Amino acid sequence: MSENFVEALRYLVIKVLAGDFITLHALKEYLIDSESPSVLSHKYKIGKFKLRGYIQRVIEKAGNHRIAQYVIKCSYNSLSNLVPIVVRVPGGYYCTICKRSLVTNPERHVRLEHRDVVNRIVSECVKIAKRSGP
Ligand SMILES: [Zn+2]
Repeated sequence: MSENFVEALRYLVIKVLAGDFITLHALKEYLIDSESPSVLSHKYKIGKFKLRGYIQRVIEKAGNHRIAQYVIKCSYNSLSNLVPIVVRVPGGYYCTICKRSLVTNPERHVRLEHRDVVNRIVSECVKIAKRSGP
């Protein structure tokens, strides 16, 4: 599996574990269902430029549009069923593993403190991708 594939996948895994499913759903609808960013921005109530930024980020990490599509195809089902480790609470975020509220950005917390969880999910998705072929 290419390094680009894994990097794009890791980015999505971190977002989902930090409780952000919107990026995953919006990306799937953009890359697979060819929905337009303005429709998605309206549907998910997220700024158009912010959404374009997330989409661009994943395509850049994947290396191109086609690999980004492939990442989503292989991982969408697993990732949309994940239980986030960080949840929103009034006034901020709470980490269900550390059992404490977070003062830092939730994605940063997941990336730095729960690398083992991230790696485990990334390798599960890579296994699924390998089974489904290139
Ligand atoms: Zn934690």
